Amino acid sequence: MDMKQYIEEAEAALLHTYNRYQIVWDKGDGMYMYDIEGKKYLDFVSGIAVFALGYNNKAYNDALKAQIDKVIHTSNYYYNIPAIEAAKKIKKVSGMDRVFFTNSGAEAIEGALKAARKYAFNRDGVADHEIIAMNHSFHGRTMGALSVTGNPHYREAFEPLIGNVKFADYNDFDSVKAAVTDKTCAIIFETVQGEGGIHPVDETFLKQVRALCDEKDILLILDEIQCGMGRTGYMYAWQRYGVKPDILTSAKALGCGVPVGAFMLTERVAANSLTSGDHGTTYGGNPLACAAICNVMDQFEELNILENVNEVGEYLYKKLDEVVAKYDYLKEHRGIGLLQGIECNGPVSEIINKAMEKGLLLINAGMNVIRFIPPLIVSKQNVDDMIDILVEAMDSLENK
Ligand SMILES: *Cc1c(COP(=O)(O)O)cnc(C)c1O
Repeated sequence: MDMKQYIEEAEAALLHTYNRYQIVWDKGDGMYMYDIEGKKYLDFVSGIAVFALGYNNKAYNDALKAQIDKVIHTSNYYYNIPAIEAAKKIKKVSGMDRVFFTNSGAEAIEGALKAARKYAFNRDGVADHEIIAMNHSFHGRTMGALSVTGNPHYREAFEPLIGNVKFADYNDFDSVKAAVTDKTCAIIFETVQGEGGIHPVDETFLKQVRALCDEKDILLILDEIQCGMGRTGYMYAWQRYGVKPDILTSAKALGCGVPVGAFMLTERVAANSLTSGDHGTTYGGNPLACAAICNVMDQFEELNILENVNEVGEYLYKKLDEVVAKYDYLKEHRGIGLLQGIECNGPVSEIINKAMEKGLLLINAGMNVIRFIPPLIVSKQNVDDMIDILVEAMDSLENK
């Protein structure tokens, strides 16, 4: 079958919840993806900030194969060694105390919200608490995660969602303070807003919210599903500012492609929130997923991933600044490490399609932002190659 036939079959069988790019993938290798016609693409998407180690990574593949030959699933009614090792490694790099494994980012958010509500319930003996989330946030598509996602378009048809959620403006402390009541049990936001258009948290805002949470015994939940796992040059983005959350969520690059997420708690919150019988999952933390996490953590150390992110991230920043200066259509450049975005004076789909035609994968973040989220092994040479194609694409478009 050719690409067109596969796409027709896909559209006849899959629920149409995505407007997909017209590519059928065959395989990946390092920084490159190959479609089934053999066309090669330089990848600055990583499957949406997932494949940090590059495709067809041998050590990663070998670790998974070895675990497949032992056992891939056991059940959380028993212990398994990969889960124990993975939890220890996550504790070490995150500075958090307790880990609960999930199968996705959205499920990590669900768990985080439940932990926050249970914490407040234990303290007050009533269940009428409120959560404050941010406008333009993204936390996932399940009902709980959607409840704190600040995009009315995603929420509208699915109301009523979980109640008692208020929205404030990201990086606007006054709007957060105005939303706080005696019933507030948690404040949740991304340390860098991803889907909302690559907006890093303002350091002062983060510190002010932390102080407010401490003063009022409100839990700070940081969603680092996209910006965590080294993408900003720190394992978790909050570490740059030294402002530790009470609950932290992680996923995407955590398993580098094997579906896995986690929420982590400080000991104080863990000891006063979810307890036996309060939460569970059939697959979460299974040996295959946890073998992936273990290998990812090991390779992050061996390959000095954080150093590469800082070095190449800075280079990417400089290069993109130069491109933005050259074209009126490109308005503003934002981001940290290898999580960067260019906001345009209009939609970015034409630019992305043109780049794709020329063998470069980019993705948007909202209508008007081009997002740059390459695998974290990206080199300066890869950045130069990407810039060449981007500039070529821009030059070939009229009015850009
Ligand atoms: C992707 C994402 C999620 C949702 O994760 P899924 O694995 O798609 O459920 C939640 N929060 C942020 C910040 C994300 O980028």
